[in-house]
Formats: sequence, C-alpha cells, structure tokens
Amino acid sequence: MSSHETRPPEPPWLEESSGVRITGVRTILTAPTGTTLVVVRVDTNQPGLYGLGCATFTQRAKAVATVVDEYLAPQLIGRDPADITDIVSTLHVSGYWRSGPVLNNALSGIDMALWDIKGKVAGLPVWQLLGGRCRTAVPLYTHAAGVDAEEVADEVLEWIEAGYKHVRCQVAVPGGSTYGAPAAAGSGDAWDPRAYLRTVRGLFEHLRSEVGSEVELIHDVHERVHPTEAVRLAKDLEQYDLFYLEDPVAPEDLDWLRAIRSQCATPIAIGELFVNPAEYRPVVTERLCDFIRVHISAIGGLTPAWRLANLAETFGVRTAWHGPGDVSPIGHAANLALDLAGPNFGIQEQHLFAEQHREVFPGCPEIRDGHLWPSDAPGLGVDLDEALAAKFPPAAKAEPGRAWRPPRRGDGALQRP
Ligand code: MG
Repeated sequence: MSSHETRPPEPPWLEESSGVRITGVRTILTAPTGTTLVVVRVDTNQPGLYGLGCATFTQRAKAVATVVDEYLAPQLIGRDPADITDIVSTLHVSGYWRSGPVLNNALSGIDMALWDIKGKVAGLPVWQLLGGRCRTAVPLYTHAAGVDAEEVADEVLEWIEAGYKHVRCQVAVPGGSTYGAPAAAGSGDAWDPRAYLRTVRGLFEHLRSEVGSEVELIHDVHERVHPTEAVRLAKDLEQYDLFYLEDPVAPEDLDWLRAIRSQCATPIAIGELFVNPAEYRPVVTERLCDFIRVHISAIGGLTPAWRLANLAETFGVRTAWHGPGDVSPIGHAANLALDLAGPNFGIQEQHLFAEQHREVFPGCPEIRDGHLWPSDAPGLGVDLDEALAAKFPPAAKAEPGRAWRPPRRGDGALQRP
C-alpha cells in the first residue's frame, strides 16, 4: 500500500495549533451482559488526557475494530484532536468508498472520543459545547410487552405509576412469532403479518379503554409488513392517538411514506437502520416523518447526528434517537448530550443499564423518575474501567444464536426485519 493511502497530507495549520497531539487510537471490546460493546479510546501526548467513543455494531464488532485499528488509527497519530470536523471529514472519504454501518461505527468511535477530549480540555460537558441545555433532564419512553392486551395494559399502568409518560407497547401474535414481546404459549416461529395487524389494532383499542388518553403510546412495526399494510395500519391506529408509529416501512421502501402522509395524521418515527444522508435527508426535508430516530453511531457519530438534528429542526421534525442495549453507556451519553442541547428534542428511548455496565463504565448516565439526568463532568462524562472490561470478554467466535435472525413467513419465505 502506498503511503498516501494510509496517511493523508496534514492540514497546513497543524504546526500552529495547540501542541496537543493524538498518540494512540485503539478499540476495546467488552461484553458485560453478553452483548459485545465496541469502545474507541483516543490517547494524547497530554498526561491523563484521552477520549472515549461508542463504535458498537454488535453484530459485526470485529469488523468495526479492524477498520479502526488497522485503517483509521494510522491516519490519526500526530493530529490535533481539536480538529474534529476536519479529521472525521478526512477519515470519511479516506477509503474512497464510504458509508455503511461498519465504516460509520468506526468513525463514530473516533468522533465521539474527540468530542470527549474537547470537553475535557474545555472543562465542560459536551452538551455545553453544543450550545447549552434546553431542558432540565431528558424524558424517556420505556417498553411494555405482554402475551396479550391485558398483560400489556397492566404493564403500562405500572410504568405510569413509576413516573413515565411515554410507553412503547408490543404484544404477542397468537399462534406465531412477534417482535418485542414474549411469544404466547404454544406459538410457532412463523410470522403472519395479517394476524399481527389484527392483534395490534385490538391491542390499542384495549389500551385506550384501560389506560386512558393521557399516556403517550408508541408502537414499533419493525418494518415487518408490506407497504400497503403499513399504510392501512397507520390509518387504523389514527383513532388511538399514538405518540408515534415506528419504522412502518424498511429503508428500501421509503417512497411509501408519502402514501401514509397523504392518508392519515398518525405521527411517524423512522430511521434506526439509516446509514446514509441519502436515506435520511429526504425523509426530513419532505416532512415524511415527525421523529427522526437514527442509531447515531450507525450514521457516523455525534457530529453527523447534531447536523441532522439541526436540519430536522428547520423542518419541524423532532428527534427520538435509537437507544437500545447494543449502545454502550458512552453512546447513551452522546444521545443524552444531543437530547439536552436540541431544541427539537422529541423523546429518548430508555435502556435500563445493568449493574455490570455501571461498574465497567463509571459515570454511566443516571435514570430517575422516567428521565435521564445529565452530569456536569467534562466531555461525555463516562469512563471505562479497562481491567474490569477485560473480565467480560466477548465470545471468541460469534455464536450463531446471537446473529440477528430475520423472521420467516408460514411458507418459509424470509421476512425483512
Ligand atoms: Mg425500533
């Protein structure tokens, strides 16, 4: 490989900059609860000054680590970590071909780590660097799921009692598989979209009669129906006043959002599978959704997510960043910074961190009263205990059972997730 392929020319202003230099970049893989998390650490020539970022693409963790350690790290040594925009823009095109979840997650780990360093140098939390807070704490939505509508309703009432105002509701589909809920007793593996559609309509009819009209209800379709079925579901659920309907269509079927918009006013959230501005830009600028909910490491980290949030704000679209268990506490802290600083914040998905996460990641964000609470710690505010992280190594080989398994219809045909 020729030298210009591993190391692009340095920017002309580098010699005049602060003197802080990147001396090392590496990934750390840890699986405190069995799910592999990918963290990038960027070290500098200043004693004690380093940054941490989330690069978690758990299904392809080693591929991300290889991109960071083998391809991106050599380009970063000697750079001033303050030059975030120039560094991530340069890295983005440094393979010529770009985008995709592996490359974007690798970029995200570096991007967030550089923001973490910038905050530590400034002595300010990242949400201060983004313009300061717009709210005291970040309202969360939580998950209720059950084998039938009664069980879901009971769980929603428990969450309301615990201080939550937004609840995502998923239910088992009798006889078949489902997404986001335990399977009903005796159910098979087959995915039956017609049975799913009937069950979900029944679920929300029951919920509104049992839990009232004040609680905000969410449902995740997870792209598992044909587009016309998604249009009809959005129309049928309009009467139940959802906070939003999530991912009604797959990224390949975004044009169908226009049909949903023209036929009903059910709010739409979409985006956790997006990896490219070509996917998310038209959804925002044509106002085809109400909430953009990308997985921020999958689009490249905090920098592109903040730009997307600002774009969305000018089009009246709010944010609802994806916040599942396969985002490290550092990634959740990045979501928290965006949520706190974003005037067009909509809602944040909750993940309840395990005790092991809190120990491995000191400074792990705090959840109280249905809210995520910020700290005043500089940077992203979350550290990594590497010695402890090493006690939770990822499985040596990816276990087949941990691969994402798409559902199959009754005739055996694959159903997109
Ligand atoms: Mg989802």
